[in-house]
Amino acid sequence: MQRLLDTLEETHLLDKAGLVRLLEWDSPALIHAADRVRKRYVGEEVHLRGLIEFSNYCRNSCFYCGLRAPNNRIKRFRMDIREIMEYARRAVGWGLKTIVLQSGEDGSYPIDDLCRVVSDIKDMDVAVTLSIGERTKEEYACLKRAGANRYLLRIETSNPRLYERFHPGMSFQNRVRCLYYLKELGYEVGTGCLIGLPGQTVEMLAEDLLFFKRLDIDMLGMGPFIPCPLTPLENEKGGQVPLVLKMMALARLLMPDINMPATTALATMDKNGYQKGLKAGANVIMPNMGRPDYRRLYALYPGKAGSMEDGLARLKSAREIIMKAGRKVGRGCGNRKRVLKKA
Ligand code: SAM
Repeated sequence: MQRLLDTLEETHLLDKAGLVRLLEWDSPALIHAADRVRKRYVGEEVHLRGLIEFSNYCRNSCFYCGLRAPNNRIKRFRMDIREIMEYARRAVGWGLKTIVLQSGEDGSYPIDDLCRVVSDIKDMDVAVTLSIGERTKEEYACLKRAGANRYLLRIETSNPRLYERFHPGMSFQNRVRCLYYLKELGYEVGTGCLIGLPGQTVEMLAEDLLFFKRLDIDMLGMGPFIPCPLTPLENEKGGQVPLVLKMMALARLLMPDINMPATTALATMDKNGYQKGLKAGANVIMPNMGRPDYRRLYALYPGKAGSMEDGLARLKSAREIIMKAGRKVGRGCGNRKRVLKKA
């Protein structure tokens, strides 16, 4: 097993059978190797991305998500443009160099309004990341022209059958198509998966990693599935932290120069989740900079880490976590710096 790991650390290549074997191996050696590769390729900086969750309306019915359209027991909110800008300005004033705008799939914002928000944020000389779901290629193109730099769209699982089981009315093919549109348009593209979904196997997780590598993604967000009340998966077992950490470590070994966050879902499942994620290959944290009362309503899953704190308090604690881990707070926009040549 150690030899397999050494080869992966050296070449950043491994086949599905090898990945499955390493996913089934319980050894700190995997995490240590990922930490060395992280240090060699992306260094000690941890980039902070200020997340603003601006609407919890969603047209989709994802089986795991508390924001799913049929959930009529949650209070819905929608920030208007002025309010989004107010929170973005505040986050930039506190030193954040990237603003991430995320929402459910809420079709009610005219594309021109979204473009205006993007270009107004860009005027503050920071990077803008969008995470607003599946759109048309034309809409992605408008947002890109308005100045958006990056886009996050998780595939959730690269297994088409598992995908379609948990996403009624949605199409796996379309999700993949969107990822290719985003790449074609020149976005830095982020994707990712949920770990621990019912029926998901280690073989499927190994395929997820190979899917990300094949797509040559720039950013990767992976977190545990957390069962959420009022969803069809509310009584299922959630994802396990050690498996999430192994997936992160393998991702760093396979894709050494990508940006990879320690996710809020990981920090929700484990009070030291951010710290553990940073040791397993992560180099990004995304503190929530939105309005505290809205943050509680953006209830993808229960017990979201830090839901009660305000933006500045969250930013301070993220900075402390980074310092205590012996790392440095990123000073620039933290774009992907490609070290490995495209395959
Ligand atoms: N609507 C956009 C989209 O579909 O990409 C972005 C928002 S979506 C709510 C953000 C992410 O939350 C999803 O990609 C999913 O992976 C994660 N999520 C939703 N429910 C979750 C749960 N129960 N446990 C863990 N993560 C969850």
